[in-house]
Amino acid sequence: MQQTDHLSSVRELAQDVSFSAVARWKEETGGKAIGHFPVFAPQEIIRAAGMLPVGVMGAWGLLEVDYADSRVQSFVCSVARTTLELGLTGRLKELDGMVFTDICDVARNLSGVWKRNFPEMLVEYLHLPQNVTSAASVVYLERELERFKGKLEDLSGVKVGEDSLWEGIEVYNHQRELLQRIYRIRRESPWLLPADEAYLLGRAAAQMPVEDHVSLLERSIAEIEARTVKSRDNIRVLLLGPFCEQPPLELLRIVEESGCYVVDDELLQTYRWYTSAVPTNGNPLRSLAESYIERARLSSVRYQVRRRREAIVEWLKEARAEGVLFCSAKFCEPALYDYVLYKEALEAESVPYLHLEFEEKMSAFETVRMQVETFVESILFA
Ligand code: SF4
Repeated sequence: MQQTDHLSSVRELAQDVSFSAVARWKEETGGKAIGHFPVFAPQEIIRAAGMLPVGVMGAWGLLEVDYADSRVQSFVCSVARTTLELGLTGRLKELDGMVFTDICDVARNLSGVWKRNFPEMLVEYLHLPQNVTSAASVVYLERELERFKGKLEDLSGVKVGEDSLWEGIEVYNHQRELLQRIYRIRRESPWLLPADEAYLLGRAAAQMPVEDHVSLLERSIAEIEARTVKSRDNIRVLLLGPFCEQPPLELLRIVEESGCYVVDDELLQTYRWYTSAVPTNGNPLRSLAESYIERARLSSVRYQVRRRREAIVEWLKEARAEGVLFCSAKFCEPALYDYVLYKEALEAESVPYLHLEFEEKMSAFETVRMQVETFVESILFA
């Protein structure tokens, strides 16, 4: 397999749990950095305040949880425990703030624990609208974003103007468009770009300024499109479930080695939240708020107007997927609730599916390999 020349440095950057790229950025610019927990963050506003948004999504299984277990229960998902461990071991010392959203009780609890344990940081919990059908939701969210903007202005000393917000919206629109191109490659010619490589290219966004990530994606797409790689008789699958905690890289690799092409997934939601560009006219915060309500991807942690079951069947058809791998993080209740819902929809449509459970620290993948190989054979020889 041909690989991008810069892939090893992308991997190094994405998996750096000491966040040294953030420290370098701060030293060079004198700016502040704001961490954000999955699955959504208004990065445009953080950037407009002259700060670096930093995605904090756990620790890739690279950390032993020693301190976090004294603050959160050991039966919560890995991403909550290892994100806290990153903080308690000083690895997030470059962050001047941390933002959480109301995705589930675990995230809600974590934001409280964070506030108590890191009093020197700005800790913000964004209350996003749950009832997205109400006409008041957009106005409410615009005010919540305004409130958040005010907190960032106080911390940074930078008055956030409309121009810098529009600039941020445009550059993030461009980043999302490039990520969509990566996903288009995965749908149309998945043999050109392995799932784990596509994932690393997206995840690199967590630790770099958006402009640098845009350049990385542009260079990578040109290189990937020029590849000559033979296709294999793999089964096309949707990977559902890892919308918040991210599965180990090894798991993505094994899924494809075992005979699947992951043609779409729920990974890296923060960077793929909007299904189309955020409009660049009117009022920027209103535009972000409207887009959150009207252009959001299907997500287990957000109320959907459309019935989830119908949406999932439609998604399958669009992606021309032959089956579903439902890959849920251990102890993630929102994912498990959706599994029950999706299972019924898939069975009604006679779509084959397989449920896999993962956690950050898992190291034995042979069972997963066997399960996926059996799943693939069951489709091939049906
Ligand atoms: S992995 Fe699931 S339970 Fe854990 S914080 Fe994310 S949504 Fe909540």
